[in-house]
Amino acid sequence: MNTSMLHIDGARLWQSLMDLAQVGATDLGGNCRLALTDEDKAGRELVSGWLRDAGLSLRVDALGNIFARRAGRNPELPPVMSGSHIDTQPTGGRFDGNYGVLAALEVVRRLNELNIETEAPIDVAIWTNEEGSRFVPVMMGSGVFAGVLTLDQALNARDKAGLCVRDELLRIGYAGPEPVGGYPVKAYYEAHIEQGPVLDTEDLSVGIVTGALGLYWYDVIVTGQECHAGPSPMPYRRDALKVACGLINEILTFADTRQPDGRVTVGELDMHPNSRNVVPGRVRFTVDLRHSDAAELELMHTQLQQLIEGAGNVGVSVELKVVQQMAPTLFDAGRVANVRQAVQSLELPHLELISGAGHDAVYLSRVIPTAMIFVPCIGGISHNEIEDARPDELAAGASVLLNAMLADAGRVA
Ligand SMILES: [Zn+2]
Repeated sequence: MNTSMLHIDGARLWQSLMDLAQVGATDLGGNCRLALTDEDKAGRELVSGWLRDAGLSLRVDALGNIFARRAGRNPELPPVMSGSHIDTQPTGGRFDGNYGVLAALEVVRRLNELNIETEAPIDVAIWTNEEGSRFVPVMMGSGVFAGVLTLDQALNARDKAGLCVRDELLRIGYAGPEPVGGYPVKAYYEAHIEQGPVLDTEDLSVGIVTGALGLYWYDVIVTGQECHAGPSPMPYRRDALKVACGLINEILTFADTRQPDGRVTVGELDMHPNSRNVVPGRVRFTVDLRHSDAAELELMHTQLQQLIEGAGNVGVSVELKVVQQMAPTLFDAGRVANVRQAVQSLELPHLELISGAGHDAVYLSRVIPTAMIFVPCIGGISHNEIEDARPDELAAGASVLLNAMLADAGRVA
């Protein structure tokens, strides 16, 4: 192994993860810290205390994003940033998001211990409401920072009880004075659990993430006519479900030829009137299409449109509505190369892969040269209280983060 490579303190990182997991702990060993709740406030205060103890100066912006700075030798240089989120799903795990924030904290702690000064400042970021569980849309803090959403859109978002982001930020004391975004950042690195099964199944400790899948979300509405199940002979029916079933079957197999990155999911299915002795008059289902390549994704989109156009018949109509669309993300080649270099020098078993899930890094990559580092989660299980990860692999990913950031921030000799 290249002896100039640095290692973080894996035991300390694990302890920080377990300590944060005490805040909003659930019975099954997971976490519930929904964005801008009292639990989120308590989590923010715990981690902010650790960041201050590490000598960092903290700023909070108008959307509650927290930035903690370790000064560089040259304060004029834009910072090298790393972070993630500490809000969770209602039945969330201990590692999703939390790992990225605490790995960045561990990088700073280790640099302090080793008395390493960097040319550029280092910022640890905690992004508000990544999960989008309490307030829609998801990846809110990073989305406004990157200019994908406006600050007003975010502040006016309401939860199911009618409470808005603006009021909840004020209530928990995180409506900060800083503007959101609008300043240069040299590079952004985010460490995260994979949230899928590939690294764990292949027994690899680190994933070099080169980008994220693009997606199309659709609603498909099939309209026929409901009628009595007994007196209506088959040829007389306008059965919406019969058409929907044939269509779903074709949709679910059409990604088979676009592997490994083509993905298609029918996740919701509603029938009307959903009654045992009534022929369904209307069926609504959702389609989620994903691909890493923009041209391939467009081909899948066109193919779906053609399937829909050919699916109706005299008595049954089929309508396709695009609900959301996001182009595939390609991370910055230079930052991915820094991650790759660190992984190779640390001699870690690894794979290059594409993120299937959205992350703060996906939005941030639109305004900052960005890369991500994945570590396995056991069984690929995430967004679940039993989400789990191995201490040695979490440590390996954080050591990759440390060395990649140092390559960007410049070690003062
Ligand atoms: Zn996450």
